[in-house]
Amino acid sequence: MDLVEKDLKYIWHPCSQMKDYEELKPIIIDNGKGVYLYDKNGKEYIDIVSSWWCNLLGHRNPTINEAIISQLGRLEHVIFANFSHEPAIALCEQLMEVIPKGLSKFNFSDNGSAAVECALKMSFQYQYQTGHKEKTKFMCLTDGYHGETLGALSVGSMDLYAKIYKPMLMDTVHIESPDCYRCPFGKNRGNCSCECFAYAEKAFAAHGEETCAMIVEPLVQGSAGMRIYPALYLKKMRELCDRYGVLLIADEIATGFGRTGKMFAFDHAGVSPDIMCVSKGLTGGYLPMAITITTDKIYDAFYAEYSEGKAFMHSHTYSGNPLGCAAALAVQKVLREEHILEKAAIRAEYTTKRLNEALLDHPNVGEIRHIGLIHAIELVTDKQAKTGFDGSLRIGYQIYKKALENGLILRPLGNVLYFNPPLTITETEIDKAIAICANALSEVLGK
Ligand SMILES: *Cc1c(COP(=O)(O)O)cnc(C)c1O
Repeated sequence: MDLVEKDLKYIWHPCSQMKDYEELKPIIIDNGKGVYLYDKNGKEYIDIVSSWWCNLLGHRNPTINEAIISQLGRLEHVIFANFSHEPAIALCEQLMEVIPKGLSKFNFSDNGSAAVECALKMSFQYQYQTGHKEKTKFMCLTDGYHGETLGALSVGSMDLYAKIYKPMLMDTVHIESPDCYRCPFGKNRGNCSCECFAYAEKAFAAHGEETCAMIVEPLVQGSAGMRIYPALYLKKMRELCDRYGVLLIADEIATGFGRTGKMFAFDHAGVSPDIMCVSKGLTGGYLPMAITITTDKIYDAFYAEYSEGKAFMHSHTYSGNPLGCAAALAVQKVLREEHILEKAAIRAEYTTKRLNEALLDHPNVGEIRHIGLIHAIELVTDKQAKTGFDGSLRIGYQIYKKALENGLILRPLGNVLYFNPPLTITETEIDKAIAICANALSEVLGK
């Protein structure tokens, strides 16, 4: 039996209709280098989606490899309750240099969804222990995505992932999210004052008093199709949360570590959240690790005699894993010493220019939006009406399959194709990716 047959015999792949694999078999990757992945036959693929947005600095990055190997020679793991280690401490010290002002306490876990669950429980308990037992609800944006566990799904609102589980989920308040491409107020990017923030004000007026926290994907609603909205919205949200005593949770799992051009998306707004979740890029996409970072003020509400029962009784076996910390430390070192963000900004501008040249005139390209190196191409049947393709046509998926044949991993989000490459991608690699993308698009859509 070959590897593909064995794979299909045993493995239930994530987020997949396994029947699709009858036609498009799993691709067995043998090795990677930089933005490239290579399959068993030596075929090359450009990893333009950063292996689900986590590969930050290329595959087999020498500095990260070395850091993990070196840590392996000392300690692979240790219980993190009452025990600690140098890599975790050094990592917190490093992160203090780059995270938004006011955040200062680090609670480790091992994946993004876990970091979100931690943030939700932490905010609930904070309110409870500071005299606000009435604050039991959570608020979130429509079309948000925060992970797949039940708490995270409850504050997510994409039917694709959540609908069937509704009876199992918490009752949360969903605020109509900014939709800048199809703005209901008829504004364009650049000429708006976040008129849509009125939805948030209305929701807070109705539910603010009973709400313990509001969670957002800052600036980019990733799974919704890389929907990008202005920093002003976050600024307004900060003020609104303060007015109602609602904690603001920033889910920077996808946007953190330079993806939006600044270290964190919140940096664009010049305000800080009360709680920030990071994961994906944290270890450069090497090891599963996440951190829920919060303020002294929140931490202090749990600090008391043991008998008062105020401790945060929350843990994960792999909390603070030393290998993950070593990888994350190496990521910070590379970001800093190799001036990655400055260089990525130049590549981002280049990508925008080249993508626009290649695709903007295509009759089915409704919008090419971008922030940092993230670029999204929204496909429509009619540019004027901005009508999306019928979901049953799976247009994005057809283009994905075509691009795969030609060596580009362009995994779509419905009708949205996107580039979210390692920040180290070069101009030549960008050109190559754009050429394959444009080719796949015209092969599937004609024109
Ligand atoms: C990926 C993602 C998560 C979930 O992280 P997992 O590690 O997949 O559980 C949560 N929020 C956002 C914004 C994400 O992009």
